[in-house]
Amino acid sequence: MKYQIDQYNFSGKRVLVRVDFNVPLDEHQNITDDTRIQAAVRTIKKIIADGGKAILMSHLGRPKSGPEEALSLKHLVKRITELLGVPIHFASDCVGPKAKAVVDSLKNGEVALLENLRFYKEEEAGDEFFAGQLAENGDVYVNDAFGTAHRAHASTTVIAKFFPTDKIFGYLMEDEVHNIDRVLNSPNTPITAIIGGSKVSSKIAIIENLMDRVDNIIIGGGMAFTFIKAQQGKIGNSLVEEDKLSTALELMTMARDKHINLLLPSDAIIADKFAADANTKECGIANIPNGWSGLDIGPRSIEHFKEIILKSKTILWNGPMGVFEIEKFATGTIAISNALAEATKAGAFTLVGGGDSVAAINQFGLADMVSYVSTGGGAMLESLEGIELPGIAAMRK
Ligand code: AMP
Repeated sequence: MKYQIDQYNFSGKRVLVRVDFNVPLDEHQNITDDTRIQAAVRTIKKIIADGGKAILMSHLGRPKSGPEEALSLKHLVKRITELLGVPIHFASDCVGPKAKAVVDSLKNGEVALLENLRFYKEEEAGDEFFAGQLAENGDVYVNDAFGTAHRAHASTTVIAKFFPTDKIFGYLMEDEVHNIDRVLNSPNTPITAIIGGSKVSSKIAIIENLMDRVDNIIIGGGMAFTFIKAQQGKIGNSLVEEDKLSTALELMTMARDKHINLLLPSDAIIADKFAADANTKECGIANIPNGWSGLDIGPRSIEHFKEIILKSKTILWNGPMGVFEIEKFATGTIAISNALAEATKAGAFTLVGGGDSVAAINQFGLADMVSYVSTGGGAMLESLEGIELPGIAAMRK
C-alpha cells in the first residue's frame, strides 16, 4: 500500500469507502447496536473534513435473492446522519444510473450511502465485472470493513485491483491490523492467550498458530473438558467433542515440545442442569459425577489464571470461561475480565476479540478498561489462525 489514511488528502475526490454497517435490526428495522457504524465515523469524518466526497457502501444481513425492503440500508440513514452530523444522500442502488446520479450530485464534504451490496449475488461471488461497476463511482478506494476482510467479495477484495495506487486502509482497519500484529508479534513478554468458548474444533488452528507466538495458553470454557477427558478425567455430563480427544492430546504434546505453558482449569462450578435455577457446587475438574456438568471455572482456577495474567505484558482473550449468559456461571468470565482490566492498568497490552468475549466484556461494562476490543468476529479468528485475510492481501498487493 502506497498511502496511509493520515497522509492522504481526499480533497475533491470521490472516495469509495467499504464500511461494515451490518448492524442488528429489530422487527421494526430499528438499530439495536450501532457499534459498527460508530467504528467507521473517524474515517468518514477525515474524508469530509479534507473536502472529499464520501461514498459509503456496505452489506446488511443476508438477502436471499435480490432486494428486500427489510434489509435496505435506508433504515440506517437517520442514525448515520446523527453520528456524522451531516445529511446523507441515499442511493437506492449500489451500481448503475441511480448510484451514479447520487454520486454525481455530491459536493465536496458530502456523504452518500449506496444500497445494500448483497442485493446483487455478484457481491458475494466476488464478480469482477460487478466490482468494476462499483469502482466507477470512486477515484480512491478506502477499506474500513475489518468485519468482512476475511471474505473475498467484490467490494472487500476484488475491487482493490481497480485502484492500483489509490487504495487505503481506513482507521478502523488500520487499528485492527496493527493491534492483532501487536499481540501475535509482540516483543513484550510474557505473552498470554486466554482461549475459551464451547468448541475445541473451532479453535484448533488458533491454538496451533499461537504455540509459535506466546508463552502461556490458558484454556477455559466448555472446550476445556475435551482436554480433561482426553487425559482420562471424569467430566460427568460436561460438554465434550469425542472426535477431538486425540487432537487435544496432540495439542498438549505440541505445547510440551515447544515449551509453552498450556494451562487447564483445576476446578469447576458444576450444575445438575443447564439452567439459572440449577443446583451448583464446586468440584475438582477431573472428578465430575454423572448427571452434573461443568458450566464455569472454579475459584482455584480463577486464582491461578489471574496470577498468570497479572504477570503478562501482552494478553489476548478470545472466548468465555463459562456459560456467562447465566449469572450463576458468569463468575469465571467476570474474574478474567477484571484481571485483564487490572493488567491493562499495570501497563500490559490487552486485546479482546471474537464474538462472545466481546459480548461478555461489554456486558460487564469493562470494554474501556482493556487496550483494544476487536470489532471483527470471523475476521479476527482467521487472523489469529495466522491467515492473511483476502481483504488485507488485496490492499497490500
Ligand atoms: P464459542 O461460540 O465456541 O466461542 O462459545 C461461546 C459459548 O460457549 C457461550 O455461549 C457460552 O455459554 C458457552 N460455554 C462456555 N463455557 C461452557 C461450558 N462449560 N459448557 C457449555 N457451554 C459453555
